[in-house]
Parts: sequence; structure tokens; C-alpha cells
Amino acid sequence: NSASTLPAAALPAPRDGIAGAAPYGAPQLEVEHALNVNENPYGPSAELAEAIGRAASEAATGLNRYPDREALGLRADLGAYLAVESGISAPAPEAVWAANGSNEIMHQLLLAYGGPGRTALGFTPHYSMYPEYARDTYTDWVTAERGPAPEFELTADVVTAAITAHRPSIVVLTSPNNPTGTALALDVVAAAATALAETRGLLVVDEAYSEFRRDGVPSALTLLEQHPNIVITRTMSKAFALAGARLGYLVADPAIVDTVRVVRLPYHLSAVTQAVARAALAHRDELLGKVALLRSERDALAQHLVERGHSVAPSDANFILFRTFSDRDAVFEALLDRSVLVRAVGPAGWLRVSIGTPENNAAFRTALEEADPR
Ligand code: PMP
Repeated sequence: NSASTLPAAALPAPRDGIAGAAPYGAPQLEVEHALNVNENPYGPSAELAEAIGRAASEAATGLNRYPDREALGLRADLGAYLAVESGISAPAPEAVWAANGSNEIMHQLLLAYGGPGRTALGFTPHYSMYPEYARDTYTDWVTAERGPAPEFELTADVVTAAITAHRPSIVVLTSPNNPTGTALALDVVAAAATALAETRGLLVVDEAYSEFRRDGVPSALTLLEQHPNIVITRTMSKAFALAGARLGYLVADPAIVDTVRVVRLPYHLSAVTQAVARAALAHRDELLGKVALLRSERDALAQHLVERGHSVAPSDANFILFRTFSDRDAVFEALLDRSVLVRAVGPAGWLRVSIGTPENNAAFRTALEEADPR
């Protein structure tokens, strides 16, 4: 969908890997039920929007100056939040790092720990952006497979064998995983960290959806003390209902944070973003207030899909991957005709639906009756 009318030969040649590649693009369409990019369907209340607006206004009075490069105030607030959320003791601000979404966090990690001659390892099906971070940083991207559908389980044995085979500089584990929703047991994460320690590799645990995990599923944050080669990445885009503000963060040993600081662009996190994120963190009870509802809606929808006869991946996230009865692209289009937008990702024949409001979820159920009859 480029606007240029010039023939490619008349234009400068991009480097290998970039020439002819399409940018990331989940469709952004005007629909009644946007269930395609795992957003939280509940925006801030008018009062909270005011509070966020006031914080942005205050920051605006200083916009002639560059922002606080280190963002230590925000990093302290994020650490305090994690202590409450995961029951760990609050990481020091120096052990936390923030950027424009966890996408930028991951990009920075690949810049610092990947590179020519280095390999990053992931497990399919995985989040679609991982190979793109690798491409951008000239890192080789290799994969091993998760277990069979519908569990898509990942075991310590599979992870360890893949690490031994590829000797990667970086391993990405995602828990809960996108697009399958699968959470990882801590022994899998610990086994990966141990196997990687031999070659001084970095283990990235992408916990973008962690707040949606079911009771009794611990965060890998609890492993950080024993395994200094683990980085946990998180985001305010999902449970925190702040995708539009672009705030992702990581927790790791301060030495890893210091390494990332070498590759970050100067003043990468705007003063407005920092102020907005801190105001949102101060109102976390409201922003996170719908997580319990979204989890119970998820469990109810998964049950409903199982009762319809679909294969359903057990989910600890705010989305569900399920197998359609008929051609998935036809089902996707038939849902879209009914103003329900989902995502055609994962293995052939599967669709992913984000959990919306009860009204969204009911509309999805009704549309699916017609779009994918049993
Ligand atoms: N990790 C995973 C697994 C994701 O699904 C996403 C968003 N879809 C991200 C990271 C990036 O999210 P953000 O940049 O909004 O933090």
C-alpha cells in the first residue's frame, strides 16, 4: 500500500532482508468488535483520563527541554508495581528499564545481545515480531517447535535440546505465549537459564500477558535472583489498558540494564510518555480493575468453544486460539462481514480471538454460529 508510483529500479536499493519486506500490520479496521490485537477493551474513565491529561499538561510546560534520559522516577514506580503484582521484593530502579512498548525493549535487547554471527532462538508458534527484531539487528533467527495442539506445551527437555543444538546468544520464551496463550512452568524457564549460562547466553522471558495468568501460575520474576541471565519483559499495553501510550519495560540485573542503555537512542522515552505512564501507575487499581472480569470471560468463552466442538488451546492470556471447522480465512471474512475482527495467526486452520467486553464476546459467539457452522 505504498503511495509511490515510481518503478523500484528508480529508487534507492534497501539492504537485503528489507527490500520487498512488508511492515508489521495487523489490519486497523473500523469494526464494532475489534478482537484482533489483544487490547484491553476498557478505556480509562473520564476522571482517569482527566488525571492523565493533567499529568501530560504539566509535562508540556517543560517540553522545550529534553526529557529525563534515565526515567528513574518511572522505573521506581514500575518496580513498586511489580512487587505488588508478583509478590517479589521491589526491584531497584536500576534493575528496571522502560521504552516505547515492549517491542522497543526487545529491539534494544537484540541490538545489545544479538548481532552478526549470533543466533536467537524461539519456539513456534511464536509472536510474529521476534524474527523481525532479529532481521533488523542482523541476528540469525532459529526456531524449535512447541508440542502438539491443542496444548502447545513446551517442556524443559525440548528447550534444553534446542539450546544445545543451536548454542544461541539469546533465547526468547513467552509466557503466556502469543498466539497460543500457554503459560510456562518455572522449571522450564529455570532449565533454559541453566543451559544458557554455559555459553553466557541471555534468556528473555516475554511476560506481556502475565497479569492474565490463572491463579497459582507464578511469574518468572521469582527466578531472577537465582538466574542473573534472565530478563523479564512486561508491558502496559495489555492488562494495564494503555496500548496507546506505548510503555514497555524489563526487569533484570542492573548490569544488563546498563548494557541496554548503551544501545538506546538518546531521550528515547518522551517526557509526555513518562508522565502519562506514572499517572496511570498511580491509578493502577482502576486500570487493572477489569482483569478479573476478562479472565472469567476468557474461561467462559474457552468452555463455550470446547462445547461447540472446537480444538481450543488452554489460555492464561486475554485471547484464545481455536481451530475452525471450515477454512480459517473464510471464517475470518465471514466474521468480519458481521463486524467482528479476529486474527488469522498460528497453525493453518486456527484463529485467535481477543477477549472483549461481555457484549463483544457475545457478538463473537453469535457471529461464529453463522461464520463457522458446526
Ligand atoms: N510481546 C508479545 C508476546 C506481544 O503479543 C506483544 C503485542 N502484541 C508485544 C510483546 C509488544 O507489545 P507492546 O509493544 O505494545 O508492549
